Amino acid sequence: MDEADVDGDLVNILFTEQQILDRLGEMARDIEKDYEGEDLLIVGVLRGAVMVMADLARAFNRHVEMDWMAVSSYGSGTKSSGVVRILKDLDTDISGRHVLIVDEIIDTGLTLMWLTSNLNSRHPASVEICTLLRKPDAQKMNVDPKYVGWDIPNEFVVGYGLDYNEKYRNLRSVGTLAPHVYS
Ligand code: 5GP
Ligand code: MG
Repeated sequence: MDEADVDGDLVNILFTEQQILDRLGEMARDIEKDYEGEDLLIVGVLRGAVMVMADLARAFNRHVEMDWMAVSSYGSGTKSSGVVRILKDLDTDISGRHVLIVDEIIDTGLTLMWLTSNLNSRHPASVEICTLLRKPDAQKMNVDPKYVGWDIPNEFVVGYGLDYNEKYRNLRSVGTLAPHVYS
């Protein structure tokens, strides 16, 4: 759906569908260069990273394997609970493999900090992070993503996989949710 379909729920559009696709294309070129001649497994963090995974994977001009993990760090609201649980683990043995975690947003960094150390304990060749969005002012954990689409202000955003109470994930663009929707 488009912004017209969620009339009044967004205070502004941060990135349009086309801007996102263009940026993911640039990131795919960088990733291809860095992993040239290596096998690559991209791991999407369910459910938010579904759109990024789908568009990033198709932007590659090379083979890439895809697997998924589901972790929960948020309740159903707009604030992190600080608790990370594995809801779905990888189907792939990652020992000796180059792993690139794909996520849609780094907020506090807690989820990816935890996930990175969890995957590193499985003896992969490498673990790096690719995120479409990052909120530098919200970051509490020292995570250092190798690929970042954009840094954004510390506001709650929805769309392109990002939800509020399981809504707005299928919005094509990314926008800031109007406070009246969640207050
Ligand atoms: P972190 O552990 O970095 O604080 O946040 C991890 C997860 O919280 C993200 O992958 C995402 O699912 C959710 N999250 C963080 N910030 C936002 C936001 O602004 N909007 C939405 N919809 N989800 C967010
Ligand atoms: Mg996520």
